[in-house]
Amino acid sequence: MPGFELFGEQERKQVNDVLDSGVLMRYGFDGMRNEHWKAKELEAALSEKMQSDHVHLVSSGTAALTVALASAGVGAGDEVIMPTFTFVASFESILALGAIPILVDVDDTLTLDPKAVQQAITPKTRVIMSVHMCGSMANLDALQAICDQHGLLLLEDACQAIGATYSGKPLGSIGDLGCFSFDYVKTITCGEGGAVLTNNEAYYQNAHKYSDHGHDHIGNDRGAETHPFLGYNYRISELNAAVGLAQLSRLDDFISIQKKNYTIMREALSAIEGVQFRSVPDGGEENYSFLSFFLPSEELAKKAQNALGEARVDGCFYWFDNNWHYYRKWEHLTHKKSLGKLPQEVLEALPDYEKADFSASDHWVGRNLSCLIKLGWTEQEVHQRAKTMAEVLQNIIQGA
Ligand SMILES: *Cc1c(COP(=O)(O)O)cnc(C)c1O
Repeated sequence: MPGFELFGEQERKQVNDVLDSGVLMRYGFDGMRNEHWKAKELEAALSEKMQSDHVHLVSSGTAALTVALASAGVGAGDEVIMPTFTFVASFESILALGAIPILVDVDDTLTLDPKAVQQAITPKTRVIMSVHMCGSMANLDALQAICDQHGLLLLEDACQAIGATYSGKPLGSIGDLGCFSFDYVKTITCGEGGAVLTNNEAYYQNAHKYSDHGHDHIGNDRGAETHPFLGYNYRISELNAAVGLAQLSRLDDFISIQKKNYTIMREALSAIEGVQFRSVPDGGEENYSFLSFFLPSEELAKKAQNALGEARVDGCFYWFDNNWHYYRKWEHLTHKKSLGKLPQEVLEALPDYEKADFSASDHWVGRNLSCLIKLGWTEQEVHQRAKTMAEVLQNIIQGA
């Protein structure tokens, strides 16, 4: 997945454009900036590439989620449905607004199970946050139908799935709102950065204002601008946006390298009885950033991960035991451990996740391994890796 593997001339040139003028901020300083507007340029390029009417860059993927929710008017006490398998940023962004994260089971797509989503809806539900984990998506038609039926918003967290598509459309462009992260380990990186995508003009207007202290961005005197509502600072810098411009121009190359490497590894594993690949909904195409599969049992999955490590096959994740990506280790959320007092709405309405039954998620995540697909491997390395993986997994399953 990581674009940081291929950082080079193009990135340096873009950054040097910014360093030459010294204008590191995306707004203002028109006369000094040698016509370089890296954030604006990257927004335009993303808008075209992702077939989305509006794109607004922010400082991180977490900021993008927060700004996206805020731009749609999500606030204290509103319920946002999110998966049990994701990154902590999902509930962080929801809690930042005083809204309530409602955890819901995942299925064999490793993303939201539409049936479980349906059951979690209450009169307070406002948003379904679909997180396209490890490069692939939920059944978005089914989630959209639920949203239509109940008047909810569909928000796509496409932070791990840039370049993937569903029904021919780029992930991130399908829901009412979409979010990308460009942190250092994502498919393309800005160092730190994120983006909000939407076809909704009003949400876009809210997003660019909210992420810049409420600035209306009218006219060319920042100090004289008005502040129609309360905002915050989630701005991206020109330096970060410059790196992103270079990386976006290489996205298609990155995806095709990933696809090639993924396919070699997948073919090597498909012969093994007992290995079941993660399911991708009809009409979906992954971005090939991970090869994710299930073993016959939790015990075998754990054994396989250890054995792969011993065989020096690095980058295979067992998310079930991971501190950051699965609900089982989110005791800071479960126990509401915050530095200061949480909003009353959160204290009253956050479900008791210690008592929750997510065995349907455990059934899948407990047996899953996800192996990172790297860009820098030589063809020989990929083949060697695929061969070693296949041998290790075959032995583990046969030994059972
Ligand atoms: C990385 C990531 C984020 C957060 O992005 P940052 O830029 O690191 O804040 C959110 N959601 C998912 C699924 C991610 O993988």
